[in-house]
Amino acid sequence: MEFDMFCTRINVVLLLLALSSPCKFIQSPMDFGPLNFLQTTNTSSLDFGRIVFNSPSAVLRAQSPEEISMLLRFLSSSSFSKITVAARGAGHSIHGQAQALDGIVIEMDSLPSAISIHRGAESSPSYADVSGGALWIQLLEESLKFGLAPRSWTDYLYLTIGGTLSNAGISGQTFKYGPQISNVLQLDVVTGKGEQVTCSPTESSELFYAVLGGLGQFGIITRARVLLQDAPEKVKWVRAFYDDLETFTQDQELLVAMPDVVDYVEGFMVLNEESLHSSSIAFPSHVEFKPDFQHGNVYYCIELAIHEYQDKNTDAEQVVNEISKELSYIPFHFYTVEVSYFDFLNRVRMEEINLRSRGLWEVPHPWLNMFVPKSGIKEFIELLLGNISPSDFEGLVLVYPLLTDKWDANTSVVLPEASEAAGQEVVYIVGVLQSADPATCSAECLRSLLYRHHHVAQAAADPQIGAKQYLPHHPSQGHWRDHFGRRWDRFMDRKARFDPLSILSPGQGIFPRTY
Ligand code: FAD
Repeated sequence: MEFDMFCTRINVVLLLLALSSPCKFIQSPMDFGPLNFLQTTNTSSLDFGRIVFNSPSAVLRAQSPEEISMLLRFLSSSSFSKITVAARGAGHSIHGQAQALDGIVIEMDSLPSAISIHRGAESSPSYADVSGGALWIQLLEESLKFGLAPRSWTDYLYLTIGGTLSNAGISGQTFKYGPQISNVLQLDVVTGKGEQVTCSPTESSELFYAVLGGLGQFGIITRARVLLQDAPEKVKWVRAFYDDLETFTQDQELLVAMPDVVDYVEGFMVLNEESLHSSSIAFPSHVEFKPDFQHGNVYYCIELAIHEYQDKNTDAEQVVNEISKELSYIPFHFYTVEVSYFDFLNRVRMEEINLRSRGLWEVPHPWLNMFVPKSGIKEFIELLLGNISPSDFEGLVLVYPLLTDKWDANTSVVLPEASEAAGQEVVYIVGVLQSADPATCSAECLRSLLYRHHHVAQAAADPQIGAKQYLPHHPSQGHWRDHFGRRWDRFMDRKARFDPLSILSPGQGIFPRTY
């Protein structure tokens, strides 16, 4: 149990009375029982972005979903307070999405993190029941003990189950299995009204779909049932380099059209020497690629992977050879390594360790992620290159295709409407994962980066490109309405149904708190 000198085992009612001024009612403390609140913690006003720092008035380290329910029931039944509540997973948001200015932050890692694994039979799938506050790395470690693993991942595993399911959860497996939100069988959710609901596609399905990709607006995920499959022991990991965007994207689209043989497809832009080296820390192969950046050239790298199972008759080497014959990379610049499945999935950790050792992890991250319709990818990359400075860009620009038929339109995520209207299956994700080291980028420089990314997002939202933000951040409700487009009414209806007072996830800046 966590305690703080200031409010040791403070009762929820006393806390709320303290937070709410002027108080208009008194209630017996015994009605709610003691909850563990801290006045605040170092992390509750901090996230990976290091751009927004909103302090809550208190932090709840809940020991059970019942405690979360108790808090939300109280807040939603009292008409006196304007207190908001944010679940905080690993706090890897960019723009304060898991913060609650003067409200209450619930640190989800305080929930018991027991993970139970169920091996499926012929007709029933294997799955894991896991706390919403657990990290994906914990689920990987536990499921591998049973020779199983989730099917769909994010690149980085030190994110929580609840945090990525509130967005989508994408990586190089998404073209094959859909995002993480397409790989969940059931959820336990505490709604904004404090109701504890078990939901699935067949049980309280409206809440189930609302919460998936719901930006924390409808409820707090306290447990998820995540699909598992047999885990491969090893992975053949391939990188191939390109000097033009068109060939690069054509080959990526060729690869995602081969889901029976290819297990992972991503790609990134090689903007300068540094981006080549920093993206290669985890790739343990000697790469002889010596690009000429002098004339403003930009290069591209496709990353793919093939799983290897000891007990199945797979020959990943053979598959890689066959694939290499079909791709049009720069001659000879095709590199292969074999790594354990765990090391492959956990590859970004190595980059984290490297960046931490150079003091470059805990710096501002003005990231921008966009879903771009296939028809607009060329124009989008031109727009981006016109707004960043490739020679001194610090970070990585990811570019890889997803297939829209692997996404469930009932969830709250919105993909570009242009793709839907044109019946295009391919949508690109472009992740501008830029760092702003204060040693080289002042506050003014950070503001300028944020402004340029905002400009790119705005310009790319025009129908000509028709892009939509992933992990969205918008300055006003009008912008959110545009973001959701024809799904806005559904989003609002769901909000009115599951969190009518707009208590949850104020850091997203979508709905103001009402009484
Ligand atoms: P937080 O930042 O803590 O929370 C995010 C939002 O979800 C907040 O609104 C919060 O209130 C809400 N929330 C948190 N927990 C819950 C819960 N249990 N129930 C309901 N709502 C909740 N994303 C990808 O898709 N693919 C990637 O490959 C990828 N790589 C990343 C790599 C790094 C280094 C970083 C920093 C981020 C990456 N992300 C990626 C983005 C990441 O998925 C999101 O930022 C995600 O929200 C982070 O999870 P978290 O646990 O840190 O969430």
